[in-house]
Amino acid sequence: MIDYRPGRLKMVEQQIARRGISDQAVLEAMRTVPREEFVPQQMRDYAYEDTALPLAQGQTVSQPYIVALMSAAAEVKPDSKVLEIGTGSGYAAAVLAEIAGRIVTIERLSSLAEAATERLQRLGYANVQVISGDGTDGCEAEAPFDAILSAAGSPEVPEAWKRQLAVGGRLVLPLGPPGDQILVKIVRLGPEEFSQKALAAVRFVPLVAGQS
Ligand code: SAH
Repeated sequence: MIDYRPGRLKMVEQQIARRGISDQAVLEAMRTVPREEFVPQQMRDYAYEDTALPLAQGQTVSQPYIVALMSAAAEVKPDSKVLEIGTGSGYAAAVLAEIAGRIVTIERLSSLAEAATERLQRLGYANVQVISGDGTDGCEAEAPFDAILSAAGSPEVPEAWKRQLAVGGRLVLPLGPPGDQILVKIVRLGPEEFSQKALAAVRFVPLVAGQS
């Protein structure tokens, strides 16, 4: 059995802490989640490289630094209820689950949702609920959320996500058309008042309406 932990600790130090992420809970979560379990078998040796990795059906497992940046920007806390759109492999959901009490994550490709459900269960992430469906409408039944993170880019901010954010809650998403996305942080300051801040230029898969 290969021991992936040294590579994981080095990844957190060199790719994440060194780039200015100082949220200790995020760093600890990234030191804990076995990313090699979330990437395709033949990619395991690349699990701690500074890059996104291919997943089934043309999707990707996000780059570790971006997962850390988004989790820190979303100010995820132990008592946070978190919504993620775009479960993919379940890697980011697992990182969030190390920090927060409850994660609801939505994936539109049912085969990915099934694989992520099985994987997260096997690894013991009992506080994550994977929903197979279109995340564009968020999850009204579980709202409000303290933090919402999207792993799929959209030219506009879906209205449902803003409405399902608690007052004081944070929404982090890639905004803009494919090829021209900016990671933004939106804070719900009051019922009708939102602030918006740009964090970084990013490249995410697009948010696609509908389920398959
Ligand atoms: N967080 C994931 C990243 C997956 S990539 C990880 O760590 O592995 C983004 C995912 O968003 C893809 O799996 C894609 O199928 C999904 N997606 C795209 N549009 C969606 C939508 N409308 N609702 C839910 N998921 C969506």
